[in-house]
Amino acid sequence: AKRSGQHKVMQFNSAQPEKTRRWLELAGQMATALQQRQYFLVYQPRIALHDGQVAGFEVLVRWQTPQGLISPGEFIPVAEETGFILELGRWILDQAIAQLASWQREQLAVGRLAINLSTRQLSDAGLQAFLLQSCARHGVDPAQLELEVTETVAMENLDWALPVLQQLRTLGLQIALDDFGTGYSSLAYLQQLPVSVLKIDLAFVRNLDREEGRAVVHTIITLARTLGCSTVAEGVETTAQRDWLLANGCHEMQGFLEARPMPADAVAGYLQAKAQG
Ligand code: C2E
Ligand code: CA
Ligand code: CA
Ligand code: CA
Repeated sequence: AKRSGQHKVMQFNSAQPEKTRRWLELAGQMATALQQRQYFLVYQPRIALHDGQVAGFEVLVRWQTPQGLISPGEFIPVAEETGFILELGRWILDQAIAQLASWQREQLAVGRLAINLSTRQLSDAGLQAFLLQSCARHGVDPAQLELEVTETVAMENLDWALPVLQQLRTLGLQIALDDFGTGYSSLAYLQQLPVSVLKIDLAFVRNLDREEGRAVVHTIITLARTLGCSTVAEGVETTAQRDWLLANGCHEMQGFLEARPMPADAVAGYLQAKAQG
């Protein structure tokens, strides 16, 4: 139900005038918001479970309007429907790559950056050239980047998604399947994808306090191992979840237990505090 709106065209539903009003408002303001620099990126650390060290950061976008902060859960689907995600997505990629270059110049051990890619961006014919140019301009090795694509996107559009993902992989980028387990991938499909990371959706992590929930996550970790992929659990909020994931072979975790997504200028302080224990 989560992504049910993804392939739908916006309908002006008279039963939901408030929703329509809000959609039009966001759609109408999101382009000027880019010129006015209202978007910014936050970074959430990904932690290697076996030693507690930072393996990398996930990049998440924020929209600060004069009226307040709008969550990406609300505006990204609108940007996907209008097509603005192509422009915003390129800005996010370039901004994140520039930030990584700056951290590398400061010799901060930030690890890899994982950037979310929407469906539409995968069908952007200029995506690879743009990525390579941005990496070259800022002096970043593409191998330092990971792209998160949702499981359903990769599956439903396998015909054109597969060559794109394969080419990105050839350039050295890692590909992660986001929200893994929420789609219906068969093993046969999964084996075709040049994916190196499975991200276990936070809905499954939430269910780790129940026997069936643990069985599901266990199955995902086993499947990942069969495919030669590593696993990242998202939305880890408790030490009980962390301990179970470590004991059951999950590689990395991400979540409020370690840190909330933080602005770029908080990252150095976070890494320093962590190094000091
Ligand atoms: P996602 O990629 O699955 O990102 C994980 C979401 O879980 C983020 O929400 C993150 O802040 C939140 N989260 C992290 N740790 C915890 C935790 O311990 N507990 C809970 N309850 N939540 C946690 P956020 O930043 O609001 O992003 C929501 C969604 O919006 C993302 O889901 C992603 O699908 C999309 N999104 C965010 N940034 C971007 C972007 O730059 N590009 C694209 N295309 N989509 C983005
Ligand atoms: Ca993600
Ligand atoms: Ca996710
Ligand atoms: Ca998710």
